[in-house]
Amino acid sequence: MTHLAGAAPGDGRPPFDEILAAAGALGDAGWQSVEVARQDGFPIRAWFNADEVDRVLIGGIHGREPAGAVAIARYVPRLVEIGRARRLLVMPLLNPWGYAHHERYGPSGQSVSDSDHLLGRSEAPACPEADAITRFVTGGIGIRPGAAVLDLHEDPVYEAPGYQFEGAGSYLYFIGDGAADRPESRRVRAALAASSLPLIREGVTRFGERLVDGAIVDSADGSIDELLARRVACSPVITVENLLHAPDSPALDIRVATYLEVLDAFFG
Ligand SMILES: [Zn+2]
Repeated sequence: MTHLAGAAPGDGRPPFDEILAAAGALGDAGWQSVEVARQDGFPIRAWFNADEVDRVLIGGIHGREPAGAVAIARYVPRLVEIGRARRLLVMPLLNPWGYAHHERYGPSGQSVSDSDHLLGRSEAPACPEADAITRFVTGGIGIRPGAAVLDLHEDPVYEAPGYQFEGAGSYLYFIGDGAADRPESRRVRAALAASSLPLIREGVTRFGERLVDGAIVDSADGSIDELLARRVACSPVITVENLLHAPDSPALDIRVATYLEVLDAFFG
């Protein structure tokens, strides 16, 4: 498949440099930052305010799902405040190349945080980014057992031929010991239910997973979320999705506003 480097995706997302600059304010507030990997010159960066953290934020794993990265970037001033009392790891945009090119995966055509090699399902990492990112979260930084994780995705239905998921709204994944009943999970679920992208109670994802009251529990999908739950003992690991029927439907502003509410709910 050919694509134009840097082609505007038409959904109003800010350039990658704006996300990077916004997150850089965490460094100005005294947080540490590391470059976990690079993709064709795009840095994949993580920010943290302690050597051992108990809250993790993830965005931008898939390049057609910009709302999470944009919301985290806009939430940085609040993260600076929250970080005065809590130990946080923030990885706002794990696939900057995909974000800039409007491509789901990285340059190698593989998911940048695929974790199957550490979950006993494959011999080798799917791509260099997956190797670096999974190494980082399992050894490059301390993540406490029981740490709560929020991973902001979207579900671009339009990118998969044959995938039908009608309607509009959001849904959730919960992974981890007792994850669906943790306070963070309850708050996020309530926030989405009351949002402009309300919880979709029933449906089947492109991966054949059936929603039960708006959520899929204990998915074994080889994601970094599964890795954090099963190998780092994080709980809850909460993944948020919303249905996209076109890059701008629903509009990015509405999705970002909803994810800002989700961030507030996650931190409580
Ligand atoms: Zn995704």
